[in-house]
Amino acid sequence: MTDTPTVPPTGRAFDVEHVLAGLTLEEKASLLSGLDFWTTQPVDRPEVAVPGVMVTDGPHGLRKQADSPDHLGLGTSVPATCFPTAATLGSTWDPDLLRRIGAALGRETRANDVAVLLGPGINIKRSPLNGRNFEYLSEDPVISGELGTALVEGVQSQGVGTSLKHFAANNQEADRMRVSADVDERTLREIYLPGFERVVKRAQPWTVMCSYNRINGVYASQNHWLLTEVLRDEWGFEGLVVSDWGAVRDRVAAVAAGLDLEMPASGGRRDAEVVAAVREGRLAQDVVDVAARRVLRMVARALPALDAPGTYDADAHHALAREAAAAGTVLLKNDVVPGPAGAHGAPLLPLATPADVAVVGELARTPRYQGAGSSQVNPTRLDDALSALRAATGADVPFAAGYTVDGADLGSGTDEAALRAQAVEVARDAGTVLVFLGLPASYESEGFDRTHLDLPAGQVALLEAVSAVNPRVVVVLANGSAVAVAPWQHLAPGLVEGWLGGQAGGSGVVDVLLGAVNPAGRLAETLPLRLADTPSYGNFPGELGHVRYGEGVLVGYRWYDARQADVAYPFGHGLSYTTFAYDGVAAEVLRPATADADAVVRVRARVTNTGGRAGAEVVQVYVGDPAAQVLRPERELKAFAKVDLAAGESRELVFDLSGRDLAYWHPVLRRWVVEGGEFVVSVGASSRDLRGAVTVQVDGEDVRLPLGPLSTVAEAMTHPVVGPRVEAMVHGGGVAEDMLGMIGDMPLTVVADFGMGGFDQGALAALLAEADG
Ligand code: BGC
Repeated sequence: MTDTPTVPPTGRAFDVEHVLAGLTLEEKASLLSGLDFWTTQPVDRPEVAVPGVMVTDGPHGLRKQADSPDHLGLGTSVPATCFPTAATLGSTWDPDLLRRIGAALGRETRANDVAVLLGPGINIKRSPLNGRNFEYLSEDPVISGELGTALVEGVQSQGVGTSLKHFAANNQEADRMRVSADVDERTLREIYLPGFERVVKRAQPWTVMCSYNRINGVYASQNHWLLTEVLRDEWGFEGLVVSDWGAVRDRVAAVAAGLDLEMPASGGRRDAEVVAAVREGRLAQDVVDVAARRVLRMVARALPALDAPGTYDADAHHALAREAAAAGTVLLKNDVVPGPAGAHGAPLLPLATPADVAVVGELARTPRYQGAGSSQVNPTRLDDALSALRAATGADVPFAAGYTVDGADLGSGTDEAALRAQAVEVARDAGTVLVFLGLPASYESEGFDRTHLDLPAGQVALLEAVSAVNPRVVVVLANGSAVAVAPWQHLAPGLVEGWLGGQAGGSGVVDVLLGAVNPAGRLAETLPLRLADTPSYGNFPGELGHVRYGEGVLVGYRWYDARQADVAYPFGHGLSYTTFAYDGVAAEVLRPATADADAVVRVRARVTNTGGRAGAEVVQVYVGDPAAQVLRPERELKAFAKVDLAAGESRELVFDLSGRDLAYWHPVLRRWVVEGGEFVVSVGASSRDLRGAVTVQVDGEDVRLPLGPLSTVAEAMTHPVVGPRVEAMVHGGGVAEDMLGMIGDMPLTVVADFGMGGFDQGALAALLAEADG
């Protein structure tokens, strides 16, 4: 024990190794769990002082509980900017914007004396039913990884940390604390892990939060393969792993697996378990030291910001939230509507005569702008679309509620039918009717999943009634995850997806309706026609404690493309008030590919704004590998860029694809491989609106498994060393052509057992030795 106080009198900075060396086993163990719901445990004695630090949700705003945290941690929190949810942010396809939002989140975190913001959440949207999809960015790992990286970089630029969550395969809320996600390794590596991998490698989040669920039977919190072998040994994660709140079942197994900090508090019980396990030789002291060191490092990193919290500009953050809400709004449809007799038709948006509109739908007045659960923020302000429209137009825009949300009290003397009738009257003579529809809070939340994709029946009835008297309808949606638009979208020539746009969602969506912002949001998730079409249908949410990821790598658009199935709106889709043309799509192979090679294929495309106003296009690069030894998706997003173009402006874009962008995870070799051969590179405006495709020939690996007794004759015939001999043997043995298929499929050991053509077990052993040494 040292005589020197570990904490210098002038500041709280400390030397982690020095402190660690001075801690008792009990103190080290105490660092590994919470003091309460939100803070880590301090160490406080004359020679050593380690402050406890606070961590709070996350992800799209700060949820810092002001007073005593309640049991579930869901009480009121201090006011903070409620930025758009990840559903909206994912649709921006704009890393620069997300970096700015991250920085704003970081400033608020810092100003509130919080060390780590618990986000972003980047789980893959495996099913639109997941009640928590609004907290996640996309069905695609490249989007999740790119945007997740930007958020983490932004937050951490302010001297506070992030918690990348929920690691991993937490793709549903049903039974989330127990269910085993039964998923093969290739699917994990290609779909569910690469978003995390990208963020970890590029941005080094201070912490990663493990998920509640099990993965192939093992709790994420106790999964050594996941938390140590993959996360740290392979990806080089340097930070701390924290449990989701209450995710640990066996604390000792969790420490051994690489779970450093368990949250929230356990009243000392867990700490005692760790101490006992070390004393009894069931847990190595070293492992506890490593975990304690990681906690100390996090605390040490947090101190400079905690000592100088700073402030933030709530108005500026509100303006940023508004910019982001507009940027993530997706114009799904903007059909030409016939003009008055003889006049040319035109789309309804942007609103040509904004003063001549009627608004119907309670959600225009009472916005649904975020989801429920641990991410629920207490906003600093709240914009609703109706007020925003009135303010922007200066007109007393007529409004009727049309329906109630979640059974709100209607008062006496009226009912839903009467609300509809009032709305019909308000809508009848309007130049354009804006119909605000969406999912009530009771439909989607953390903690449970939806069972269908439908809007409430009363809302659809409203749309039917309104469109019957005035077909000039634009539907504006508020929902945290895909809804079925197919049953009613023919009633609306205009359709706008606003997702859950945060506290400025109302004004942001109005900016798009009026054309103050030219829409440039793109779907980061497919809108399917029917629930029964969705990839996980039949395997969601599982049963008896298991959910089987039977669709494998065919998640999201990969599934619909493989089945050549129609969708309502494809991944990557989104319209603009201007138009874009593509030309000059080209791809050049720069070098032979290995899985870790950079810049293997250079892709070029020119995009031109061919319309009459400035706008942004999202140029998307997809890659397909038509002839591989494993089933590969038809095409996968590998790169994208959002470009602002003035009317008439052109720009050439260049994308370099790495070896990894061409690789697949080999399930037997258990590593990334680039199988040489043809790759199809397509460039387009959505996954189903490809504007150019080029086939390139890439030299990669000659992927083959070593020959063994169970290799087939056909496999042996293609072997570079012994193949010609096996082929000669087969043909020389007088095998008839029509028997070749059958023989080709026979394992070598079976042929040897038959002793065909003198080929016996001895000859097989010699052949195998020659083949692969
Ligand atoms: C959620 C996490 C959250 C934590 C703390 C958990 O229930 O899954 O996302 O960060 O609670 O509120």
